[in-house]
Amino acid sequence: MVRRERSTGSQGNLEVDVSTGWLAAVRRVESPNCDSRPPRVETDLIVVHGISLPPGEFGGPWIDRLFCNTLPPDEHPYFAEVASKKVSAHLLIDRRGAVTQYVPFDMRAWHAGPSSYAGRGPCNDFSIGIELEGTDTSAYEERQYHVLARVIGALCRAYPALSPTRVAGHSDVAPGRKTDPGPAFDWPRLRTLIALETSSSPGY
Ligand SMILES: [Zn+2]
Repeated sequence: MVRRERSTGSQGNLEVDVSTGWLAAVRRVESPNCDSRPPRVETDLIVVHGISLPPGEFGGPWIDRLFCNTLPPDEHPYFAEVASKKVSAHLLIDRRGAVTQYVPFDMRAWHAGPSSYAGRGPCNDFSIGIELEGTDTSAYEERQYHVLARVIGALCRAYPALSPTRVAGHSDVAPGRKTDPGPAFDWPRLRTLIALETSSSPGY
C-alpha cells in the first residue's frame, strides 16, 4: 500500500503538526541551515522554487546533502560552486511527488535570499519555502502539482495568516536574480488544483 501511494505521489497524510511545525508523516532530514523567525512576524507567504542537482539531473542524494552542508565539491563541477552555500528549504517535492521536510515551519529556512514581496522583505522572515525537483524549462510532473496543492491546503489550514492567494515563485520575489521555478511551471494548473483542494477540505 505504501508502495502504491508513493508511485502515485499521493503521499498519505500531509497534515501539519502545529505544535512542532513538522508535517506529520513525511520523510524528515533535519537541516542546520535555519534560525528563529523575527518576533511578531506572521508567516503569510509560500515561495515555490525549482531545484535540480546537478542542474538538469533528477534523483540522487544531492539536494539533501546541499541542505545539510555535506555536498561533496569534487563530485561535479557545479557542486564546487554551491557546496559552501548555507541554504535550505522547508520542503522538497521530488519527481515522484515524495515530500521531504528539512526545517520546521516555525523556523526560518534559508531559501529566498535577498527578496521582497509587496514591498516587504526579506521573504525568509515570513515565508515557507517549497522546492520542486525540476528545471526552469522541463515540464514538472503532474504528481508534483497534486502534492504541492495538497501541501498548500494543509499549510493554509494550519497557519491562518497563509492563504491560497499568497503563493509566489522565487522569480517573483527576487526578480532579475532568480528565475525558478521557471517558465516550465504551470501556475494556472497549480491554481486550479489549490482551488479544488481548499474548497473540498472540510472545515477550511
Ligand atoms: Zn529558488
